Amino acid sequence: MIEKPDCIFCQIASGRASAARITESAHALAFMDLFPAADGHVLVIPKTHYENLFESDEETLADVHLLARRVALAMRHALAPDGMMMFQLNGVAAGQSVFHYHAHLLPRRAGSELRIHGRAKADPARLAELAARIAAALA
Ligand SMILES: [Zn+2]
Repeated sequence: MIEKPDCIFCQIASGRASAARITESAHALAFMDLFPAADGHVLVIPKTHYENLFESDEETLADVHLLARRVALAMRHALAPDGMMMFQLNGVAAGQSVFHYHAHLLPRRAGSELRIHGRAKADPARLAELAARIAAALA
């Protein structure tokens, strides 16, 4: 497994940094975004370091997105949002801020302001509660 020591998502994947983890698969990990754009904002990452869509290998990418779908279904059940955004950013010009591939799952409420990144760090207790609720709803 490729790891970049100064990469925060590599640190989360290896357990050297903490996160409100939801679940994982062979090549992917889902956890709560520490700076959520909305309540329930989830990130799904490959366990191996890939900077972006162009670097990732197909097997890992497929696994990340199959896990994202599984988690999205659980989020829909646990959080009952009006809609769900899934997006992924490549490069500074596209708004990428952590240079380890990640898919965003963002629950949307009708009429709420559209943001892709949060500005404030979330309450860790709230993130742990949401992660547990989503994990309990996994099929
Ligand atoms: Zn990384």
